[in-house]
Amino acid sequence: MNEELNQEIKSNKQYNPQMHSAEHILNQTMVRMFNCGRSFSNHIEKKKSKCDYRFDRNLTEEEIQQLNSRVNDLIQQDLIVTEEFYLRDEAKEKINLSKLPEDAGEKVRVIKIGEYDACPCSGLHVTHTKEIGTFRIISTDFKDGVLRIRFKLINE
Ligand SMILES: [Zn+2]
Repeated sequence: MNEELNQEIKSNKQYNPQMHSAEHILNQTMVRMFNCGRSFSNHIEKKKSKCDYRFDRNLTEEEIQQLNSRVNDLIQQDLIVTEEFYLRDEAKEKINLSKLPEDAGEKVRVIKIGEYDACPCSGLHVTHTKEIGTFRIISTDFKDGVLRIRFKLINE
């Protein structure tokens, strides 16, 4: 892992591995349910987070409930979160690297959540998905081609 980035992340007290791991699962679930891209912009904080998607409408109440239950099903499966390193060219064949910064180097760190999701990322994650707690969408709205999903985690 990039040490400088690691330090930067650790020094940011707002950064929360549970929230950030939930974001990975939410993104993959959005891709699978709606065939859209992963969030292009997000704000991840301990209390509540938001992810923005290029989309064509707001979600219905049923879709929100379906998203909640799919994400929580995955969390409850207690999937193992692992990191793998690939050479950039090798990774290109397996994973969409469009989000990867050009200066990310020749080695690409890919975070896998069970067999459900694989995404290049340099952040901090939980080791098992049950550590995330319960995922709950607070609200969604749609404006100018952007769907915003706000969510929180409930931990007892
Ligand atoms: Zn990550």
